[in-house]
Amino acid sequence: MSKTPTREMLLQALAAVVDPVTGQGLVAGGQVSGLFIAGQAAGFVLEVPPERGEAAEPLRQAAEAALLAVPGIAKASVILTAHRAPAHPVRHKAAPTAKIATPEIRHIIAVASGKGGVGKSTTAVNLAIALSQQGLRVGLLDADIYGPSLPRMLGTNARPAPAPSGSDPAKKMLPVPAFGLACMSIGFMLDEDKPVIWRGPMVMGAIEQMLRDVAWPQLDVLVIDLPPGTGDAQLTLAQRVHVTGAVIVSTPQDIALIDARKGLFMFQKTGVPVLGIIENMSVFHCPHCGHDTPIFGHGGARDEAARLGVPFLGAIPLHLTIRTTSDAGTPLMLGTAEPALQQAYSDIAARVAAGLRLL
Ligand code: ADP
Repeated sequence: MSKTPTREMLLQALAAVVDPVTGQGLVAGGQVSGLFIAGQAAGFVLEVPPERGEAAEPLRQAAEAALLAVPGIAKASVILTAHRAPAHPVRHKAAPTAKIATPEIRHIIAVASGKGGVGKSTTAVNLAIALSQQGLRVGLLDADIYGPSLPRMLGTNARPAPAPSGSDPAKKMLPVPAFGLACMSIGFMLDEDKPVIWRGPMVMGAIEQMLRDVAWPQLDVLVIDLPPGTGDAQLTLAQRVHVTGAVIVSTPQDIALIDARKGLFMFQKTGVPVLGIIENMSVFHCPHCGHDTPIFGHGGARDEAARLGVPFLGAIPLHLTIRTTSDAGTPLMLGTAEPALQQAYSDIAARVAAGLRLL
C-alpha cells in the first residue's frame, strides 16, 4: 500500500476525533471544511459555535494530532474558526491586545478599501511587484478571506509546500512563490467550488495562522490585501499585527470616497499611520481613440487626501489591460505592454517605500 496520504485517510482520522461538546466526530458534525494536503502537510478549517471560542483550542490541537498520526503527514495546520465575544469592537484606541510576532518581516503594509470592487486586490498585487522591482524583498498576504483573489491574479493554484523538516515546528508551510514574491492566500488552501462562510472573528483566526504558521522568508515588506470594508476584522487586524502603515484604495466617486474616509479614520483610531490614498479607475483610457474620459470623476481622491492631510500616492487609470492582465493571472507590472501604466504603479511604490524609509 502506498504511503502517500489521501483525503480519505485524513477524513477517517478526523472522524475519530470526537468533539466533547457535541459528542460527535468532527466529520459527522460537519466541522471540517477546506481540507487540504500539500505533500506532507495537511490542514483544514475547524468550525465551532461562537460561544465556544478559544475554549475549543484543545479540540483544535487534538485535530492536529490526529492529522499528524496519519502515515506520511509531518505537518498539520488546523485553523480554528469561532466567534469572539465582539460586543463593542473598538471605540477609540486600540485595545491592549498582544501583537502577533513577525520578526522576519521589517514592514507590513495593509492595503485597504472602504468597500469591495474598487480594485484593491489588483492594486495590492501590482504594488507588491513594483516594490520588488525596486529591489525590495516582498511578500503578499491575501487576507481577503471572503473573496481570495490572489490565486487567480497570480495565475497559480499551487498548494503551499510543507516547511522543511528540521525547521521551526511552529512553521508548517512555505509561502507560494510567484513572480519573485512570497505569497499566501486562504485560496491556496480551499477548494474554489466549496465556499466557506466566514464570520468576523474567524477571519482574524485565519489571517493570524497565515502569519504565524507560514515560514516567511526575510522580507523588507509584506503587503497585506485586507478584506474590503472597515468592520471588525479590519480593526482587529490593525490591532493584532504590527502594521507599519496603511494604503487606502478608492475610486474617485463621492460614495467610494466616503467609504475610503471610513477606512482612514479606522486606521487613525487604531494608531496605524496612513501612508496615503491611491485613486484607482481614475480616468478611462479609450483603447480605440486614445481619449481619456473621467468616468467616475477624477481627482476626488487627491482633493480628499489634501483635505484629510494624508499623502496622495497617485492615480491609476481605468484601463482594459489592467483588467485583462489581472484576470489572466499575469499582472500588468510583469509585461511590457503599457509602460505608462507601469510607471504609475512604480511611482506609487516609490512613494510607499519612501514613506517606510526603505529607499
Ligand atoms: P477589490 O479587491 O477592490 O474587490 P479587484 O482588485 O478584485 O477589486 O478588482 C475588481 C475588478 O476590477 C477586477 O476585474 C479587476 O481586474 C478590475 N480592475 C481593478 N483595477 C482596474 C483598473 N485600474 N482598470 C481596469 N480594471 C480594473
